[in-house]
Amino acid sequence: PISIRVPILIPDYRERGIVSGYREPRSSAAACLLSAFQMSNETLNIWTHFVPAWYPQFRGSPRLAAALRPRRAWPFLAYLLSCCLYPLASSGAHTFGAMSRRARHLGYFLDYAALGTYSLGSALAYSAYAFPPEWLGGTFHLCYVPVAVLNAALATGLACYSRIVEPARPRLGKAARTAAFACPYLFDSIPIFYRLGACAARGCAGPALPLHGRHTALALLAGLVFASHLPERLAPGRFDRLGHSHQLFHVCAILGTHFQVEAVRMDMAALPAGAAPAALSTLIPMGIGAGASLAVVALCSASLGRVQQPSSAWKLH
Ligand SMILES: [Zn+2]
Repeated sequence: PISIRVPILIPDYRERGIVSGYREPRSSAAACLLSAFQMSNETLNIWTHFVPAWYPQFRGSPRLAAALRPRRAWPFLAYLLSCCLYPLASSGAHTFGAMSRRARHLGYFLDYAALGTYSLGSALAYSAYAFPPEWLGGTFHLCYVPVAVLNAALATGLACYSRIVEPARPRLGKAARTAAFACPYLFDSIPIFYRLGACAARGCAGPALPLHGRHTALALLAGLVFASHLPERLAPGRFDRLGHSHQLFHVCAILGTHFQVEAVRMDMAALPAGAAPAALSTLIPMGIGAGASLAVVALCSASLGRVQQPSSAWKLH
């Protein structure tokens, strides 16, 4: 059986409040794949992101052919792709994380690069379709995508760094990783927060805003669950396989993305004809952001090999 109880584990393998259900930390790739069908504490982490990863494509594909002709669809396509990539990368990291310490780190580094790219995809879509009309063409609008490109690379770097420091300084690691997810999200959402604020003050126009509101609520909930380790922190061992915070975090994040896709789609539909950017102004930032995030992953992976881990970090003591 893959799902075994390992009472004391490598420090960066053990999760707070989760006592049992860990997989053997040096499993083969085949055993990792099989473990998706056995109930370990990772099983639902794998499926809660693997299944929804295909959803934005199904949802978007009937419209893609029609949407491809007008150039306004490019930011939407890049965004949809990033919405598929991040759950796939996450699901892969959770599946193969039991192979070795190095595979585990590399898997999550790639997961963070995909999350950084998703934050950039969101920014591209917001910049093209979701900005308040009175901000269009202003300084903030002009700087918005370049800053989002920088954020994607910085967030990937910060999240990767958080894994490297975590064994020695768990609190710093967790805080750095939470900030790496939260900062790009908060920056990207400034136009949305503005619209939601204006909606509260002056009343709402259009069907997209309530969906943006749901996405915002779920994103905040995901952040709370992720940072608090609730509910397993209150009852360690009770939520090992079902209902622990990381599963809830996945569900909140993916439901939030679902509402975000719908909101962006509605914003795009409401746009006047010819009001969106050309293909290159999507493809160039996306290429730079994704490329920079991958370069950061390569750097962090290389430093993993150089940094000598304390020998205790390798032992099942
Ligand atoms: Zn996860």
